[in-house]
Amino acid sequence: MSTIFALATALGKSGVAVIRLSGPQALSAAKTLAGSLPEHRTTGLRSLRDGDGVLLDQALVLTFAKGHSFTGEDVAELHLHGGPATVKAVLKTLGDIAGMRLADPGEFTRRALENGCLDLAQIEGLSDLLEAETEAQRKQALRVFSGALGDKAESWRTDLIRAAALLEATIDFADEDVPVDVTPEVTALLDNVMAALTKEADGVRMSERIRDGFEVAIVGPPNVGKSSLLNRLAGRDAAITSEIAGTTRDVIEVRMDLSGLPVTILDTAGLRETDDTVEGIGIERALMRAKQADLRVFLYDQEPLDLLLQPEKDDIVVRSKADTYDGDDFSVSGLTGKGLEKLTMRIAAVLENRALGAGTAIRERHRMAILRALTALEAAKSELSYGIERSELAAEELRTAIRALDSLVGRVDVEQILDEIFARFCLGK
Ligand code: GDP
Repeated sequence: MSTIFALATALGKSGVAVIRLSGPQALSAAKTLAGSLPEHRTTGLRSLRDGDGVLLDQALVLTFAKGHSFTGEDVAELHLHGGPATVKAVLKTLGDIAGMRLADPGEFTRRALENGCLDLAQIEGLSDLLEAETEAQRKQALRVFSGALGDKAESWRTDLIRAAALLEATIDFADEDVPVDVTPEVTALLDNVMAALTKEADGVRMSERIRDGFEVAIVGPPNVGKSSLLNRLAGRDAAITSEIAGTTRDVIEVRMDLSGLPVTILDTAGLRETDDTVEGIGIERALMRAKQADLRVFLYDQEPLDLLLQPEKDDIVVRSKADTYDGDDFSVSGLTGKGLEKLTMRIAAVLENRALGAGTAIRERHRMAILRALTALEAAKSELSYGIERSELAAEELRTAIRALDSLVGRVDVEQILDEIFARFCLGK
């Protein structure tokens, strides 16, 4: 096993830059540069020198013993002054040591998986944690990184193994006229697990929204102030506003953090009947995107809404240009910002409520594994319904379900998924 090293912090000028080394030679290589090493898990200030004894930097050195590090291997960290030239010089010196090589993206994490320090779901959580930009994303990623999905999978597994064991017992004792009927207990175990799995599978869509963002479309007739509202929400001129109707012809997207939730606001072409071909295409597109969005904000001016699209449940209907009249209907002004806070709170409330549906399973991969398990459990129940003499077949279905759930944490079928996951990691992680 080679010893790998990489810059673990972002490339560029910074106060401190951390270079991480992992593998059998990590400690000896760090010692080559630093002269001596501090005790494990304590830091020590050292002068780092290259092969010719020339001073490279004054750095904090930190070491972790095998079995007590992120990767599970011997690990050393060099906390350098964050200048690019310093980093480059230290990386070069490390690369000159025989047996040392620069890490591939995600290779530290891959080693953590191989050494059993993290399971596959935790790695997915970690990948999301490094990408997290909003509070909701951070919390969700941390939940998965902390091993919550692995814990759930383990408890489902325990229940299914117990159910399988009960069935196996009836197979083994089939000739001996076992007096107890295990079917009720097995059925109860299966029903519990199936209910939990169904809930998790349903939550994946919301988890994906928290990760990738919710879409909120602003819709309404031309000239009601949709673009002005988008610009006010974004705090910049993202969309062209004009008094000429039909200006917004493509869908304009602005990504923002709304109460911790990642939200993409879409400004769409004004909805009206038109003979203009280009505007017509814009309206088609607007209708399509608005229908697909998680939520629509319908803007109207003085005229009540009469649109090619109807509000759905939870959609928000709000009057625009609140600065131009006095009235107590729910209204917002993109020009002055009046009513804006109330509108963003309404949007956030709807999305937060939906985000509650998110569970611990956060990816399509998880959903597919859970659905495979559910299909097998349905089949097991159907076998059982034919009578206890089909126990063997039911037990086989349970094993299929257990295998499907094992793939959540990477006990099986790991190789295919690994490359895909690690491709997203940055160098040094
Ligand atoms: P869109 O076609 O629905 O995107 O509407 P725009 O944002 O382009 O605005 C159309 C016209 O209404 C422009 O002349 C804007 O200056 C004006 N307008 C937009 N929002 C407001 C507002 O809140 N108050 C006032 N007084 N005028 C507005």
